[in-house]
Amino acid sequence: MAISEHASVCTFDCPDACSLSVTVRDGRVAKVRGSHALPYTDGVICNKVARDMPAFVHGPQRLRHPLLRVGPKGAGKFEQISWDDALDAIHAGVMQVIDRFGPQAVAPLNYAGPHGFLAGDSMSLRFLHKLGASQLYRRSMCGGVRAEAWVGTYGAVPGCPPEFAAHAQLNLVWGNNATATNVHLVRVIAHARRNGGKLVVVDPLHTRIAAQADLHLQLRPGTDVLLAWALATELEKAGSFDRAFIAAHVLGCEEFMSRAREWPAARAAAECGLRVEDILTVVDWMAAADPFILAPGNGFERGRNGGSGARAAFALPALLGKFARGSGVIMGGGNSFPKTLAKLQRPDLLPPRTRTLNLSEMGRHLADDDVDPPIRALFIYNHNPIVVHPDQNRMRRGLLREDVFTVGIEIAMTESMDFCDIVLPAATHFEYDELYPSYGHHWLQRAEAVIPPIGESLPNTEIFRRLAARFGFDDPCFKATDAELMDDAVDGSDPRLGGMRPSQIPGDQPLRMNAPDGREMVLFDNIFPATPSEKIELRSESLAEKWGASALLPTWRPREGAQPLMLISPASDRRITSTLGDLSASTATPPLLMNPMDAASRGLMSGVEIQVWNALGKVFLPLEVTDAVPPGVVSSEKGAWLRTSRNGQTISALVSSEARADLAWGACYNDTAVEVSAA
Ligand code: SF4
Repeated sequence: MAISEHASVCTFDCPDACSLSVTVRDGRVAKVRGSHALPYTDGVICNKVARDMPAFVHGPQRLRHPLLRVGPKGAGKFEQISWDDALDAIHAGVMQVIDRFGPQAVAPLNYAGPHGFLAGDSMSLRFLHKLGASQLYRRSMCGGVRAEAWVGTYGAVPGCPPEFAAHAQLNLVWGNNATATNVHLVRVIAHARRNGGKLVVVDPLHTRIAAQADLHLQLRPGTDVLLAWALATELEKAGSFDRAFIAAHVLGCEEFMSRAREWPAARAAAECGLRVEDILTVVDWMAAADPFILAPGNGFERGRNGGSGARAAFALPALLGKFARGSGVIMGGGNSFPKTLAKLQRPDLLPPRTRTLNLSEMGRHLADDDVDPPIRALFIYNHNPIVVHPDQNRMRRGLLREDVFTVGIEIAMTESMDFCDIVLPAATHFEYDELYPSYGHHWLQRAEAVIPPIGESLPNTEIFRRLAARFGFDDPCFKATDAELMDDAVDGSDPRLGGMRPSQIPGDQPLRMNAPDGREMVLFDNIFPATPSEKIELRSESLAEKWGASALLPTWRPREGAQPLMLISPASDRRITSTLGDLSASTATPPLLMNPMDAASRGLMSGVEIQVWNALGKVFLPLEVTDAVPPGVVSSEKGAWLRTSRNGQTISALVSSEARADLAWGACYNDTAVEVSAA
């Protein structure tokens, strides 16, 4: 029996990007543990990755060969074909579409399955750009609202490293289900608490980190901007603003505060569903805390006021002047890397005036043919659209169209692959070399393959290399090796690389992205805002220019909706959105959480099957009556596969694809009006 140990990195859509140690036994991934190579993650990983990786790599769901659909779309009937036949079929199918409708009738349908530079989007975009396919604005699905709010306020810079949370006197965790999605933040916060630091959690759901908090502000979804305004107003009244810092470094303070002052704690508390005294307690703690850390997550961006909520929360440390010396905002980690994405993805290959489609609207474009030219060919990769897209039923109608030639590239036979004409088997991150940034910390990592690709699967880079060759693309950029792609992804001449080529970073030695002074990057210590004014912009002309005049300052839009309950959909600690959703830990139907008052008024009790519905769909779930959600709010985990549902609809079926956050066309997953009744 041959056993070996290998350094690796976790690729999943998670801010932590843990370093891993992989035990390979007889050519198979036998065990995955955290390694100590990355000091931040320091040997600890989440349960799902520790438990599920052997099944993820070697399980029966794994795609091992190219497949040709032989039944109706969605029926899951395929037969094995050769790579040559698959590439020929794709070439013929796509060229038929291009000949009739032009290249923009071809579109990618991809998101962020793997987070390495290469598998994420490298050769794939080179190929699609050269093809002239429609472009996709992907950030509306997740992360874009928060990122736009951050960049609009501070510029494309990192805030502070997450390690700072370990020494904070107050950690303010906002819309961040950290125990499920940011486990190392929980660890460093626990360290701070052992040393007397306080923890406040702002979240509509009583998450596990909220259960650990000194104070949980269980606000109504979408009211974050009101809470942040109330905190700002009360901090100002208390004389806690750092006027010298504001004068030197903040733009638009007075305009921001003139809106905020309309929402003192007493008024905001009523709208947020909070107690005035709890808001005032947080005011006292924020004023006193030094260091103070704000650790925002993605939860509060997913609603109509998402951008405003994030911007107003980001304003708080600016008004208090709490930066550097251990204070700051754990945001913008992805900005710490000297990325050279244009070199990696080659947008210069695109024909002029190629259109850009919004990922969140792809279901409508497919189902309703509301774009010209219509979409007639799709490349689905790194994505499970039937499970995760808003308005699932419309996406299903789109994917069912027999006149849309669909190519799927996947690791496992997901429910989205059932709708594809040709399915190509992709390798897992244990089967190719990769370069990993992170959006949650400041370390660049490289990992090498620990086993060869399973069956006939191939890394995404090689799949698109072969596609490019089959389409006759002979530019040298389509022959770039994976090492060359790594060197195209990050600027090797940047001082942060310390003279090392990205492709040469040792697999077990993560590289911290330091400021020019050789220390870790910290806002208002050795780096400064990168906004047009070089100040913190509470009033942002650049956001207004990009997203409309109303984006000049944070605003609040009250709730609308024909149904009385607000559905939120937090992350599961058994999946990464829908990834791993086919493995045994994820096959149960997730419950719907409902407050006892709402259950009593509907005559419902725990354990019964209920239907949760609106005009878009109906989902059957077991009910759990609990104080974990406030009155008027129901919650069910996102990412469950269709097979967990008796009518093939999951909660994405209830989410509007028309509703938009106030920045980045953001999808409003946590702003969904529903009603619940007995099944
Ligand atoms: S999913 Fe996140 S916490 Fe889990 S191993 Fe991967 S990076 Fe680490």
